[in-house]
Amino acid sequence: MAIQLFDSLERKIKVLSPSHPDGVFRFYNCGPTVYAPAHIGNFRTFVVNDVLRRLLELEFGAAKVKHVRNLTDVDDKTIRRAREEGRPLADVTKQWTDKFHADCAALNCLPPHVEPTATGHIKEQVDMIDVLMQKGNAYRAADGSVYFKVTSFAGYGALSRVKERELQLGSALSGKSQAADADEKEDVSDFALWKAHKPDDGANAWDSPWGRGRPGWHIECSAMSKKHLGETIDLHTGGVDLLFPHHENEIAQSECCNGSQFSRHWYHSEHLLVDGKKMSKSLGNLYTLDQLKEMGHSPMALRYALLTGHPRKQLNFTLDSLHAAESALKALRAFRATLPAVGGDAAIFTPVFAALNDELNTPGAFGALFTIVNRGPQGISLDSFDRVLFALGLNLDVTTPKAEVPAEITALAAKRWAAKQAKDFAAADALRKELTAAGWSMLDSKTDYKLEPLKK
Ligand code: AMP
Ligand code: ZN
Repeated sequence: MAIQLFDSLERKIKVLSPSHPDGVFRFYNCGPTVYAPAHIGNFRTFVVNDVLRRLLELEFGAAKVKHVRNLTDVDDKTIRRAREEGRPLADVTKQWTDKFHADCAALNCLPPHVEPTATGHIKEQVDMIDVLMQKGNAYRAADGSVYFKVTSFAGYGALSRVKERELQLGSALSGKSQAADADEKEDVSDFALWKAHKPDDGANAWDSPWGRGRPGWHIECSAMSKKHLGETIDLHTGGVDLLFPHHENEIAQSECCNGSQFSRHWYHSEHLLVDGKKMSKSLGNLYTLDQLKEMGHSPMALRYALLTGHPRKQLNFTLDSLHAAESALKALRAFRATLPAVGGDAAIFTPVFAALNDELNTPGAFGALFTIVNRGPQGISLDSFDRVLFALGLNLDVTTPKAEVPAEITALAAKRWAAKQAKDFAAADALRKELTAAGWSMLDSKTDYKLEPLKK
């Protein structure tokens, strides 16, 4: 069953296929910037890409998929964080890389085969910029920064249609962090390949033919993709916000440098909204995995909830969706417990894989799966059911972690238990009210009691 995916560049649905004679499918997914914990929006993108990785393995064989996902460990944000905390950059990025890995593992995301870092590939980036300079696609500004000359690449704007939309509004083209450099550029739409050292960068600078400095953000993906996957790759992915300027710039750099097509397929998944709004710290609606765990939700419930929306549509996240996800996981767990090891008819699950292979239609896949589950276990065995769980990356062993009970709640509960034993029911009731107000329920048995957080 072929995997079909919308291609953001050609704007049509295409079948994924490897192009290299070795048959290995080359897949590059833009990774996180490691200066803070990733939020659940970031994880929507990484979980969707993980399902894609799993489908590729099922389609081409695990040994025939090479998945590269980078770590952006030097840019304005990482450097600013290190400066604010008075720590070396490498300390900060290691802390958040470790955290990212722990969260990915909790969400059952397969690790990429290669996870290159920008600071580990300075030479590759410098080499690429050097070629762009020699070919006349780049120029050095007076301060030692190097810019890509957008007008030197006729294909610029093909991915984002930016020429039609915004070329006149040059400022819109300046991208993530380049506005400050605008007066150094020949044209406002040009973007930085190399940024000359500034005092705020501290020790985070490297030598180059153009003077000390650091790479611009976009060049890292072009250089690392080339090093680990070759000049032409089969698939390049990321969230929609990366379409412009990041991916548009990657295409320009790679195609001008290599003289060949950069990626045969571009896929962008849509963003996660929270309570109908864009996530932001100021709105107080930006959740991390740890925050959800503290509220008693399991990472697997988050993974499930993140997959309940079509990846090419915005998904509105609510805490309620985690309760629904938890119930769905419970039902799948109970169903799995009834299945024999082998002997079923794997074709029963064809509609689930058909939905997944049809543009990663994960809500369609869940719908098809529950139609089968609700019919009952006849004709189904563990091997074929587990293949479905593998594709969706659902690990049913992972249950809701027990929320830690704060000391004051334990003390209140002990007091109430003592009052009840002493048959002081008025005091016991009053203490229960206090517990409820604090968000806890106390479940009594004859000899003991249990504390549980109230569902929000
Ligand atoms: P960053 O660490 O900012 O480079 O982002 C890592 C990945 O998360 C990128 O692929 C982004 O496109 C993606 N991303 C950022 N915000 C969201 C969001 N709200 N929903 C889904 N994906 C997002
Ligand atoms: Zn990238």
